Amino acid sequence: MEKEVLLRVKDLKKHFNMGKKEILKAVDGISLDIYKGETFGLVGESGCGKSTAGRTMIGLYDRTDGEVIFNGKDVHTMSEKERFQFHKQMQMIFQDPYASLNPRSTVKEIISEPMEVHGLYPDRKERLERIYQLLEDVGLNRDHANRYPHEFSGGQRQRIGIARALALDPDFIIADEPISALDVSVQAQVVNLLKRLQKEKGLTYLFIAHDLSMVKQISNRIGVMYLGHIVELTASNQLYKKPLHPYTQALLSAIPIPDPDIEDKRERIILEGELPSPLDPPSGCVFRTRCQHAMEVCAKEKPVWQEIDTDHFVACHLYNDQVGNNEKKDILVNIR
Ligand code: SF4
Repeated sequence: MEKEVLLRVKDLKKHFNMGKKEILKAVDGISLDIYKGETFGLVGESGCGKSTAGRTMIGLYDRTDGEVIFNGKDVHTMSEKERFQFHKQMQMIFQDPYASLNPRSTVKEIISEPMEVHGLYPDRKERLERIYQLLEDVGLNRDHANRYPHEFSGGQRQRIGIARALALDPDFIIADEPISALDVSVQAQVVNLLKRLQKEKGLTYLFIAHDLSMVKQISNRIGVMYLGHIVELTASNQLYKKPLHPYTQALLSAIPIPDPDIEDKRERIILEGELPSPLDPPSGCVFRTRCQHAMEVCAKEKPVWQEIDTDHFVACHLYNDQVGNNEKKDILVNIR
């Protein structure tokens, strides 16, 4: 069956002018398709541009260049009326449930607000019923409606944030690090809740996170981001079974494996150094300053984005037959 593209991102760039002729290239030309009903995970270290990418996709930031096509329309060239409708269809869940809920509003008011803005459920009684239903959908109950955010735990607050995001019955949700501020024990509960809601409501997710192990639990496909670029993109299982990009391999090697025999024997790849500044990114491959396989060509040429296996894309000179030398053959024998 042909998959339906709900969101298409084409060569999207978001640069910030920092003054004194300094340009911060937070997102520097990313492309991806997100299919209806799937969860697309976007992962990378903090500062890699993944949250900026999400915010530019939903139109919170203007783009510098490129396109964000949702349901056939470019988010950044929509009329005001179209943009208003678009915000009903695409919603966002934020990282910090503490900061994203107004402390002076009750849960009822928080969830009701987007409905009021969009003129939904004008009848007070019907709106209240809708709020109760949403609270139940996210594992809370109607008694919570008159309480304030500070009366809840972090996990419950994130549930309130999810209820608010669902209030307009959207098709697409951008979840920006929705579990990173929560205790590990609560993270799995929120991921399970998101999975259940996706099934029940036919939602599509962009799930942004820095923790690859949690992203695997929820994502159908994953894009790995490094310094404003997507360096690898494929199905979640494939990425874990056969990571190709040296950065993905390093990220995966940091995740502990529950089997002690395998865990003891495997070799860890230590990522040396910090993420370079996006104000002054390295020439050629942006990962080269931390890559254990970096070759001469990596400083001179930007690696091209290519499909290596079916639906498995990577940007790395190691996999480009046009850029070859003997040094590369030995590396490939060891890492594939
Ligand atoms: Fe490493 Fe070169 Fe591949 Fe970049 S292009 S990831 S530096 S081998």
